[in-house]
Amino acid sequence: MDFFNSRIHTWYSFYKRDLPWRNSPNPYFVWLSEIILQQTRVDQGLAYYLRFTEAFPTINDLADASEDQILKLWQGLGYYSRARNLHFTAKVIQKNYNSTFPSDYNSIKSLKGIGDYTAAAISSICFNMEYPAIDGNIYRVLSRYFGIHEPIDTNSGKKVFQKLAKELITGTDPGMHNQALMEFGALQCTPKNPDCRQCPLKESCFAHLHQTVSKLPIKQNRTKQRNRYFNYLIIEYQNYTWLRKRTTSDIWKGLFEFPLIEMSEATAIDVILVHEELQKLISQNNATITYVGDWKIHLLSHQRIHYRFIRISLSEEIETAQELIRINKQDIFNFAVPKLLENCIAEYFEN
Ligand code: SF4
Repeated sequence: MDFFNSRIHTWYSFYKRDLPWRNSPNPYFVWLSEIILQQTRVDQGLAYYLRFTEAFPTINDLADASEDQILKLWQGLGYYSRARNLHFTAKVIQKNYNSTFPSDYNSIKSLKGIGDYTAAAISSICFNMEYPAIDGNIYRVLSRYFGIHEPIDTNSGKKVFQKLAKELITGTDPGMHNQALMEFGALQCTPKNPDCRQCPLKESCFAHLHQTVSKLPIKQNRTKQRNRYFNYLIIEYQNYTWLRKRTTSDIWKGLFEFPLIEMSEATAIDVILVHEELQKLISQNNATITYVGDWKIHLLSHQRIHYRFIRISLSEEIETAQELIRINKQDIFNFAVPKLLENCIAEYFEN
């Protein structure tokens, strides 16, 4: 273990990236970066991090922001509940902790949206506590180097990794140690085709010596994907179009989208035209279908969204369902929308 730690720590001192949240152990910045990086890689997440810290330099600024502002900045990262949890937790810290991030592990972990991993990362990096933060990178490094074949997504497997990670962090600089392991997994011991010949651990790495690098770590549960079919209606009248806000506890809660008819399969357009949802949304007497797009696919972690756009032109303004908001087309860029709509909006509407 000493050999492993010493090689990883030395590697980190040479190769760590210069990232803004590493320059100060401010728990607000570390929390923000960790939540963003659960959604994306560092190169893309950095731009989000900079936008957030510029718009909300302190926890109070985040707490005082509107949900729409936060969702707009989060747009494109997915898992919008994480953005709503950020907002909720900032308000809790403002109200219950006098705007100061709590400094003990249990209080940190009690905050909404902060699980074992994030609580451990904040506790170790900002408050020097020996809590191992085990993210996907660390599972991979430990599994390969120590030859652990327990699945990383079972409770018994997690306990094995937790025990080992706890032993490894003991007696180290815990913030540096956790970050060194994460960075090593992100840059050196990568998921696919790691360059083992350049690795400082290659002489004693189990997976390298046994040619099992591509087999580790092991996952037991393959999650099933649900197929959904979204028919998006781009309704147009003069310079207006219509949006609605997703309010139910489904994907993309709080985001805006075009009126939607969801089906359980890829239905023919004729079926959509007489669908009662469409009748409810608009009276069809003065509506003309001007375009029906091809089906495309957008992948979420557990869902496969099949979607297409149907453009409907109105010859006169109509009463629409109450849930719909009429907007000027050029204002559409001010609304937080799901990622799959971004390209369509850029294509159909001029900024
Ligand atoms: S030798 Fe290869 S598999 Fe082993 S720790 Fe290094 S990069 Fe990972």
